[in-house]
Parts: sequence; C-alpha cells; structure tokens
Amino acid sequence: MKDSYGREINYLRISLTDRCNLRCVYCMPMHGLTFVPNKELLTAAELEKVVRAAVAVGFHKVRLTGGEPTLRQDIVEIVRRLANVEGVDQLVMTTNGYRLPYIAQDLVDAGLKRVNIHVDSLNKEAIAKLMRLGTYDKAWAGIEAAEQAGLTPLKLNAVITRGYNDEAAVEMAALTLKKPWQIRFIELMPFAGPTEIQLEHYVSSDEIKDWIEAKLGPLFPLNEGDLDGEARVYRLAGAEGTVGFISPISNPYCDDCNRMRLTSDGRLRMCLLSDKEINFRDTLRGGGTHQDLVALFERAIRAKPVGHSLKHGIYPETRTMSQIGG
Ligand code: SAM
Repeated sequence: MKDSYGREINYLRISLTDRCNLRCVYCMPMHGLTFVPNKELLTAAELEKVVRAAVAVGFHKVRLTGGEPTLRQDIVEIVRRLANVEGVDQLVMTTNGYRLPYIAQDLVDAGLKRVNIHVDSLNKEAIAKLMRLGTYDKAWAGIEAAEQAGLTPLKLNAVITRGYNDEAAVEMAALTLKKPWQIRFIELMPFAGPTEIQLEHYVSSDEIKDWIEAKLGPLFPLNEGDLDGEARVYRLAGAEGTVGFISPISNPYCDDCNRMRLTSDGRLRMCLLSDKEINFRDTLRGGGTHQDLVALFERAIRAKPVGHSLKHGIYPETRTMSQIGG
C-alpha cells in the first residue's frame, strides 16, 4: 500500500523487548531504567496476528530488533511463527550477536535468513568505554556463529561517536578488504535520554568517508550512488566486502522511506524520529479482529509523515532508541 506521498510501505521493524545486555553510551543510561513488564510485551501469538495483518496491506519484509531481540526466551518460537506467515519473504534480525553462539542454528532452522550485527569497534578498550557491558570476544563469537550458521551475507553496524571510537572508521572499513561483509556506519541520532551525548559526539558520514579514504584509498560508489535500502554503499579497490553509510542526519532518506516500527509494547510508529504512535496492543487485547488490525495499518500508512523534523530542532522525546527498536 502507498502512503499519502506515494511511497510503497512494505518493511516492518518489530522490537521484541526494550531490554538489552549492553548499555551503549548513546543508547541507554547505565542506571535508573524501567522496562516494559513482561506481561505488556506482545506475545508470539500476538506478533503473528500483527504480521498477518501487515502482510494483508503489502508488507513483506520483517526485521526483529530491540532492545536485544535474542533476550526473549521465546525468540525461536517467534521466528518460527513469523517465518511461516505467507507473504513474509524476508525475515531478518538486528542483534549484538552475544547469544548467537547458543541459538544461531535454531534461528536458522526456524526460518531466520540474515542478521545485522552491531559492534562499534575492534578495539577492546573502545568497546568497553562505548558499549559498556560489551566485550570484543563476545562480539566476535557472535559474528563467527552467524557465519557458521549461514546467516549471511553479514552486515556489521557501527555508530562512530566522536572521542569514543573514531579509530573504528578506518579499522572496520579495512575489514572489508578480506571479508565479504558490509560494514555500515550509522550516523548518531538524537533521542530521549542521552540526547546530549548524541548531539555532542555526532560525526557525519562525509567525515567518516574522508577518514577512510585518507588511509585506505578511494571508496567507489556501488548501485550508481543510489540508496541500497537506507545505505549508500561503496567498495575499496580490490575489496571482498563493502562499506555502507546510513545518514539520517546529513542526508535524510525520508523520500525513500518504506518502513514502520512496532514497539515491544505494541505501538506502531510511523517514523523513527517522530513520537506519533498508534496503539495496536489495545486492539489485540480488546478482542480486535484481523480486519481491525488491517484497518489500523491502513490508518497508519495514511498518517505516515513526509519526513522527520530534526533540522527544525524537533527530536523524539518520549522514547530512547532501545524502547522504539533500532
Ligand atoms: N540490540 C540490537 C543491536 O545492538 O543492534 C538491536 C537494537 S539497537 C537499538 C539497533 C541499532 O541502533 C544499533 O546498531 C545501535 O548502534 C543503534 N543505535 C542506538 N542508539 C542510536 C542512536 N542514538 N543513533 C544512532 N544509532 C543508534
């Protein structure tokens, strides 16, 4: 289904939980957090109903995220249920990968196709400082488990946060010389919570690209310089893998936005960076039918804003990224 601006909306990102086993400085505070109580999280059966309704209005790609989606005890059941919904042709996940050594094969057997793994640096000290509860060894064990289980092609996501992991830009881009991975640099975005860090430590995609080219040589644009999903993708000469830049601040891709996000407590956000939400959980728990859910999606698609308003200084204020689902 197309929205009011002619964009085909077909990609649903679902946050399974707002809990995480990391506390990245730009995402979650170390202390003082309250989490959605378990009984308020959408169940596997409720998620399946939502996805069946989403497919009926034209969604066909689903990404599971969080918080950390693999912290859900019923993660394999969720994957199995959603993978079996006719019309879902891509079921993928964004994760920090720490639990993949234990469950990657089960996820594949249940129908998961690919994972994007978040790791902000290859440097142990930088990981400890930026991702706080994170460790290099656990991140790498997750990456290896994903590869062994065939959750490929692998994409690694990093957020360059000035003063924390600047060196990661070149070091991670250099990984693509030998590995067939896509290393993606996501620009830091402001959300409720640690907003000051997000604004003070922001580094633009252009600056990161300059750092990489100064050390590793030119990045050649792929896909004729056009967006591939939300990323602009490049390759270093002779590289096995690619380097992607996701630039919601310096080069917003709102005109090409095809997605919506379901929070773990069952609210649908029409735009990551806008606080407007539609409550699906009340409909699900109040006896709503499949047609009622379809009608909610239709309303949401019609209400999708033309773009975010960061340049006018309007930031999301009600939720952190971990609460929305990154
Ligand atoms: N736990 C999973 C993970 O670590 O990828 C999924 C959730 S996490 C919120 C998804 C992505 O959002 C991560 O790559 C993280 O770096 C990114 N992220 C979190 N806060 C952000 C912010 N303020 N700006 C840009 N990206 C952010």
